[in-house]
Amino acid sequence: MFDVIIAGCGPTGAMLAAELRLHDVRVLVLEKETEPASFVRIVSLHMRSLELMAMRGLLDRILRHGRRRPAGGLFAAIPKPVPKGLDSPYAYLLGIRQPVIERLLAEHAIELGAQVRRGCAVAGLEQDDEGVTVELAGGERLRSRYLVGCDGARSTVRKLLGVGFPGEPSRTETLMGEMKVGVPQEEIAAKVAEVGETFQRFWLRPFGEGVYSVVVPAAGVSDRAEPPTLEDFRRQLRAVAGTDFGVHSPRWLSRFGDATRLAERYRVGRVLLAGDAAHIHPPTGGQGLNLGVQDAVNLGWKLAAQISGWAPEPLLDTYQAERHPVAEDVLDNTRAQMELHSTEPGARAVRRLLTELMDFDEVNRHLIEKITAVGIRYDFGEGPDLLGRRLRDIDVKQGSLYGLLHRGRGLLLDRTERLTVGGWSDRVDHLADPTAALDVPCVLLRPDGHVAWIGDDQRDLDDHLSRWFGRRATEEAGENPAG
Ligand SMILES: Cc1cc2nc3c(=O)[nH]c(=O)nc-3n(C[C@H](O)[C@H](O)[C@H](O)COP(=O)(O)OP(=O)(O)OC[C@H]3O[C@@H](n4cnc5c(N)ncnc54)[C@H](O)[C@@H]3O)c2cc1C
Repeated sequence: MFDVIIAGCGPTGAMLAAELRLHDVRVLVLEKETEPASFVRIVSLHMRSLELMAMRGLLDRILRHGRRRPAGGLFAAIPKPVPKGLDSPYAYLLGIRQPVIERLLAEHAIELGAQVRRGCAVAGLEQDDEGVTVELAGGERLRSRYLVGCDGARSTVRKLLGVGFPGEPSRTETLMGEMKVGVPQEEIAAKVAEVGETFQRFWLRPFGEGVYSVVVPAAGVSDRAEPPTLEDFRRQLRAVAGTDFGVHSPRWLSRFGDATRLAERYRVGRVLLAGDAAHIHPPTGGQGLNLGVQDAVNLGWKLAAQISGWAPEPLLDTYQAERHPVAEDVLDNTRAQMELHSTEPGARAVRRLLTELMDFDEVNRHLIEKITAVGIRYDFGEGPDLLGRRLRDIDVKQGSLYGLLHRGRGLLLDRTERLTVGGWSDRVDHLADPTAALDVPCVLLRPDGHVAWIGDDQRDLDDHLSRWFGRRATEEAGENPAG
């Protein structure tokens, strides 16, 4: 019997497993594939994900494997500088190969004690009042208290639950791969610049050793299950650029579409969905993996609280209440970006207009904060603007604030030095620091780094500690908490 079985060891499943292990939850991750994915596309980790990695002590390890780039020009690939005043010490993006980030996250989960079984596909599920029975493709049956489907866009778990996945089917297909070229770099650069004026979904980017990352619109795709061939690339390059650049010796070839869909529900009883299993959208702006990892950090501590028995009644449901609207917004911004990639005259005119508007720093910053998820504000009710937002990493007397969040616990950051977390000290840390760089007296941070309360009154704080962290431990033990 496990506490949680996770279907899928992609970035979302691995991150969720690690988050649950911070709270000693017994986790089993079932991964269909025996080997990590062979495609080696580079993905972007955005500001909020980098912040989360710093919050869990993973950032240095990850930075060694990626390449930093300025966090500008992310929206619809409209080239703009990094806006001024981005409120984060991690105001850059990190390009990293997807299999590498997947491996690092899986290693982290395993180091924390998660079990990962490869070559095990979830094929069936049944739930009852006590737990979930998970059936593997080979017929083996396993039992857990909860199941989370992190099994990607074609999620078996979502289908088994019968959860609707409304949205739009794919309308445009794009070829993507890595291969060698047969013409000099200068010739390629000149052609790419010329064609890039008209086609946004087109590039050849050098990787070193004569290998290029090639992206070009696809055409005539009748069977999406059929993998693309080198000949498909050559034909499309000729159609779009007038030359196939002599491409040869592919490392890998793939194709992606722009289907845009959002699960109707993220939870059915003891089964939940996260990552691509819950939402899909075109890769423009590079948000999908980030969104999934952020789902995992939102869900992990809540599910752990439910399993430990201290979760206040609606806590687990705040996962959907908070994350569904975030995904809705990402879907919308990718829809908008796809329109801006169109070669139609109207869309090109809108793109020109937006390009002008983005010269206003506030517009540029708004869009970057949207794509990089640092602009998210959860609805925690009325209160100052900071309430519900993530708190940036700041200097505190013990070093950095995020350094205090490695264990995934709540934190009271207290400039008044007269408040206490009392009966919640088994779940919430307390840092009294009058010098902390905050312009409010105190904040209560959830384990995901979002501001759950702002103020200086102990009674009000206690109400909010109960709201997010359940009853006092002393009350649970039947003692008088007043003390
Ligand atoms: C061309 C392209 C570029 C992209 N660039 C970016 C980018 O720059 N930044 C970004 O954030 N995102 C990017 N993405 C999106 C990103 O790749 C996905 O959003 C991300 O992989 C989703 O992670 P996941 O863990 O939710 O799902 P997946 O990565 O799909 O992982 C799901 C896992 O579940 C396993 N599985 C499936 N079915 C079962 C089953 N029945 N039982 C057990 N295991 C199962 C799969 O084998 C897989 O390992 C890009 C996508 C594309 C196509």
